[in-house]
Amino acid sequence: MPCASSSRSLPVAVRSLSSTTQKHPVYEHGAHRSNAQNLVHEIPVIEVGAHVAVCDGGSGALGHPVEYIQLDTVSNEPQICKYCGLRYKMGEVHLH
Ligand SMILES: [Zn+2]
Repeated sequence: MPCASSSRSLPVAVRSLSSTTQKHPVYEHGAHRSNAQNLVHEIPVIEVGAHVAVCDGGSGALGHPVEYIQLDTVSNEPQICKYCGLRYKMGEVHLH
């Protein structure tokens, strides 16, 4: 019966479509990015007493994989964490 086979394939196609949409919420990326840009303007530059800053985005849900940020650049300007947007600059470095 051709009618039975066509009606059976319909629910499968709908189910796979909805699961794909849930896995790729495009709007979340846009909202997260604009949110991080707002935070950058409110949080002051963090001075680190070392040549490298280690940033994990802070504790809790806002954390991200540990990112090592090189601070002893030629321009000596604050470096921005590519994950969370925090800014770090090299402060007093205690040499041994
Ligand atoms: Zn970070």
